[in-house]
Amino acid sequence: MGNQSFYLFQLQKIDRRLDQIGQRIGQIETQINNSEVVTAIRGEFDSSVGVLNDLNRQMGAVEQKAAEKRVKIEISESSLYGGKVHNPKELADLQQEIASLKLNLKKLENEQFDLMVGSEEQQAVVDKKKLALDEALEKNLTDNQHLFAEKNTLLTEISKTNAEKAAITQQINPESLSLYESLKKAKKGFAVAGIEEQCCTACGSQLTPAECQRAKSSSQITLCPSCGRILYAD
Ligand SMILES: [Zn+2]
Repeated sequence: MGNQSFYLFQLQKIDRRLDQIGQRIGQIETQINNSEVVTAIRGEFDSSVGVLNDLNRQMGAVEQKAAEKRVKIEISESSLYGGKVHNPKELADLQQEIASLKLNLKKLENEQFDLMVGSEEQQAVVDKKKLALDEALEKNLTDNQHLFAEKNTLLTEISKTNAEKAAITQQINPESLSLYESLKKAKKGFAVAGIEEQCCTACGSQLTPAECQRAKSSSQITLCPSCGRILYAD
């Protein structure tokens, strides 16, 4: 393995670029998704669907009740005409019960019809809102074409950069890599510091010539005695 700090420095550049790309993609997505027009129209569409679902639920409940009435009417009519009931009072009661059930059924059927008309009208509203939403999304796409293009470019860059990262990582031994990863976490992404005029570029502290030399030539890792970062000298 070659100079570990050199590869770690390259790795840090790559990681920082990947972070930048990730942040930029986040910004782009926020911008694209936060269209007020789309949000408003989507809200209208959603509530129109809510109303439609509610009507259909009511229609189902009424249909259920009507079916129950029909069964009861059938049972009462078979008693009435079955020839087993002879008592005039009982027959009269059955007739009255059937008449009342039929009246109820008629009411339910009217209700069902009104709900069906309402549901059809609401379906037309939903279709219109869906069309408006599709148009708004299409317009949002056109308006933000440059952002979508930028996002695609960034996604391509991510896959290229990840390939580079894999190649660099192969040059780094596992101990160096885990030191880098833990320092990266502790130092907000900056695990490796350069050396300029014998100073650590991260914390600014003066380094001895021996430390500078060791950072430059050795395949061993040299840490800044002050901030603890991995020192890299080119
Ligand atoms: Zn330092």
